[in-house]
Amino acid sequence: VINLENITKSFADNHVLKGINLAVDKSEVVVVMGPSGSGKSTLLRCITSLEAPNDGIVTVGDYKVEAGGENERERKATIRKLRQNTGFVFQQFNLFPHKTAVENVMEGPVVIKKMSREKARRLAENLLEKVGLADKCHHYPAQLSGGQQQRVAIARALSMEPMVMLYDEPTSALDPELVREVLLVMKDLAKEGMTMVVVTHEMGFARDVADRVIFMDRGVIVEQGTTDAVFNHPKEERTKQFLQDVK
Ligand code: ATP
Ligand code: MG
Repeated sequence: VINLENITKSFADNHVLKGINLAVDKSEVVVVMGPSGSGKSTLLRCITSLEAPNDGIVTVGDYKVEAGGENERERKATIRKLRQNTGFVFQQFNLFPHKTAVENVMEGPVVIKKMSREKARRLAENLLEKVGLADKCHHYPAQLSGGQQQRVAIARALSMEPMVMLYDEPTSALDPELVREVLLVMKDLAKEGMTMVVVTHEMGFARDVADRVIFMDRGVIVEQGTTDAVFNHPKEERTKQFLQDVK
């Protein structure tokens, strides 16, 4: 579903991604780990065109975005479609503060897909039920815990029926006791066959759910494999060092 070919990204003379190649299959769960500043967020942002790579080709489903390719208008249209089909969950939940949970989840289907409000409301209520928040539909973000807000954010991403879900450290802003409820929702989605790329340092989640773990450092994929291979038998010195530090 996702294919990255030789993605490079620099900010001025800071070479953040140095030729990333990555293919993610349908229903695959890929966990990305690596030190701060290694380019993990930039990688996710390039997948969904929140950042434009300097070079390389990003494909999500049928949507292909090539750096410097095709005409600007076509390219923008492709990016819009690609983004509509990609769910993105941020560390900071980014909900609309003046909208209730259900209104936050309805927003995408109503505004972007032009779904009727009744239909969108039903969809939103179903999704909130799915993430365990059936009784919080009419709460505002400020009336919800961090874990609940993040689950609303997941429901909101799902409302667009994305082909893939990208998560950027979805639990690292949460109090420890709220981490589990969010990981459980993500785990359920993985079981249902959702394709996911998850930047997280939650080793337990990776062990339970990841088909593949990728270790990134300084803009390159240093090592990848099953959780067993990467966690228990890392080949590269940098991976060993990192695992020691996060344990
Ligand atoms: P963390 O674990 O701290 O979230 P990360 O692996 O996600 O780190 P990135 O956020 O991708 O790292 O950042 C990689 C590098 O790119 C850093 O040196 C950062 O300063 C730089 N960078 C990221 N976004 C921008 C931007 N919009 N403008 C300039 N530099 C940026
Ligand atoms: Mg980051």
